[in-house]
Amino acid sequence: MDILKVKGNTYCIDTGMTYIPFYKINDEEIIMLDTGWKKGEREGIDEVLESNNFKVRAILNSHAHTDHIGNNTHLKNKYNAIIAMSAYEAIICSSDVNLKVYYGSQTLTEIRKHYGHMVCKTDVIIDEDQNEVSLCGVNFGIIHTPGHSPANICIITPDDVAYMGDTLISYEVMEGAKMPYAYILSEDMKSKAKIYDLKCSKYIVAHKGMYDDIKKLIDDNIDFYESRAMRIYEVIDGTMTMEDIMKVVIKKFNIRIQDTYKYYFIERMLKSYVDYLYEIKKLKLIMENGFLKYTKMTANAVIDMTF
Ligand SMILES: [Zn+2]
Repeated sequence: MDILKVKGNTYCIDTGMTYIPFYKINDEEIIMLDTGWKKGEREGIDEVLESNNFKVRAILNSHAHTDHIGNNTHLKNKYNAIIAMSAYEAIICSSDVNLKVYYGSQTLTEIRKHYGHMVCKTDVIIDEDQNEVSLCGVNFGIIHTPGHSPANICIITPDDVAYMGDTLISYEVMEGAKMPYAYILSEDMKSKAKIYDLKCSKYIVAHKGMYDDIKKLIDDNIDFYESRAMRIYEVIDGTMTMEDIMKVVIKKFNIRIQDTYKYYFIERMLKSYVDYLYEIKKLKLIMENGFLKYTKMTANAVIDMTF
């Protein structure tokens, strides 16, 4: 793994898959912005920290997804670091049972097995109305960008570098992504539009890019998510249950589902797109023989709902 200098005291660990930014308090002490995957990244991150003699004093997370908090507890225990996160994300990963609230359809046993390592104790809670946080005497700006996850944030370092976490995805990811993830896509779209006015000197996207300007990237992200939602809209024919839609989408998008973990993952992603289509009044919900079904909203029905 390489270390890239971004600006001033702001750097990035390039794990290959992800950029993990960190801020140097001095030559030895650092604050990490997210901690990466456990699987496939822990050893490399340990190695790069040790070989540079870095001591992790604090961890500031963008959100509580497994590829962003995967090494939180490991690094907290190893370096006696403090963890800071927004309030709702901190609750999600505070216990197996709270993870179960987030990963609703999976069993508690599966959640313990796949996500148990994500459980961590957050020391500094960032509230919804807080637009900065001070850690080890360093002030970070906070922009609340809910949607990708419920209390997702973007973080601005004292060098005027904005870490976007997963609020935006890079062109590289757009090329390969069949259905990029958003927990509540309608809110995520609003957050993407909100950061349009952000003026920082550099922007880091977790998966994976560094930009001087993000206006075009924001436009292209919004268009990309919108086009993915429309691809799902196009497969809806007549009245369909969520499972009917999933069957058609898996086939049309050529998605391979080899285990239950992947099934739940795809189910969660698809649900957020279907919910989005409902929110923008493209789909409506109906009950048919005791089953909840989705169907396309006709032009007349949209007018009925508007007036
Ligand atoms: Zn994420």
